[in-house]
Amino acid sequence: MINVTKSYLPDLEEYTNYLKGIWERVYLTNDGPLLRDLEAQMKEFLGVKHLKFCTNGTIVLQMALKALDITKEVITTPFSYVATTNALLWEGCTPVFADIRPDDFCLDAAKIEPLITENTQAIMATHVYGNACRIEEIQAVAEKYNLKVIYDAAHTFGASYNGRSILSYGDISTCSFHATKVFHTVEGGCIITDDDEIAQKLHFYRSFGHRNDDYYSIGINAKNSEFHAAMGLCVLPKVPNLIAARKQVFSYYDTRLDFSQADGRKIRRPTLTPGVDYNYAYYPVVFESEEVLLRVVDALKAQDIVPRRYFYPSLNTLPFSVGHQPCPISEDVALRVLCLPMYPDLEEVDVERIAMIVNEAVAVVSIE
Ligand SMILES: *Cc1c(COP(=O)(O)O)cnc(C)c1O
Repeated sequence: MINVTKSYLPDLEEYTNYLKGIWERVYLTNDGPLLRDLEAQMKEFLGVKHLKFCTNGTIVLQMALKALDITKEVITTPFSYVATTNALLWEGCTPVFADIRPDDFCLDAAKIEPLITENTQAIMATHVYGNACRIEEIQAVAEKYNLKVIYDAAHTFGASYNGRSILSYGDISTCSFHATKVFHTVEGGCIITDDDEIAQKLHFYRSFGHRNDDYYSIGINAKNSEFHAAMGLCVLPKVPNLIAARKQVFSYYDTRLDFSQADGRKIRRPTLTPGVDYNYAYYPVVFESEEVLLRVVDALKAQDIVPRRYFYPSLNTLPFSVGHQPCPISEDVALRVLCLPMYPDLEEVDVERIAMIVNEAVAVVSIE
């Protein structure tokens, strides 16, 4: 079977060497030495000021909202993983959905302004598939209306914009280190900011809001363990090679998928924002209709190949989303976009086979 993604696992021996240290110290969690080492290495790798390693990429979104005192309306994207909307709803905020750009599927800065009310406090945008949003445009709206900017940058590890990690932008950026992401710690995530005061708040939030007998603030349990940090320490040094291997797979697809039919309207890929050095996190393709997409999915599944509808559905249509702001571009793209298998050791012959199945399924429909 070929799945849409496959987690990278380091040499078992390398991981067990870290385990030996854990066994010697008998120190399993709570800001341990491996976690501190990983945080220091990630800060260096990403070139960011403050970074807190946490349990996952969802709780860090919630911590971001809490740290910035966001409780009311947040302009957000309908084209993301459901965690983005869930974090807002869980924190009692009101998501207000602005539509996406038709070329790269990131939040369209031009759609934000008309939705701003006296209750708007922040913008929460997702850097879709590891590509950067139009950061300057979003920042300009935020400054004009005094709004905070939180980026769900779950996909962006190892990707940069204008020479800086994409994770370094916004008031707060968050990342996920789930097993399916470019860099992973099995489960995990991080929260990043330049602001010393916010960083201090986040430090206490992560660990119940107290240190020993001193209670500073409300808090939660977002601490990650030495076992997860050990995985991170094994995977982090491999990230440049993993990204290079992904780039190779990406180019196999690019040369074998048939983008020529009907001037590329039958299959297309989202564009990259100029200035982005990409991490090749996903290989999304957009078909002409949901019907074509479903045929492609069936044809692949018949050969034991499992793609993923991602992102689907458009988050403004979730049954538990409050209100229903129409976002026609996101609703349309969500029906037609499919992520094809993409991981570092996916072989050229397999990409060739996948591309052939996709090309054939697309061509069949266009004859009808
Ligand atoms: C993976 C992902 C998350 C959630 O991260 P977890 O670590 O699984 O909680 C949030 N947002 C986006 C865009 C993601 O892709």
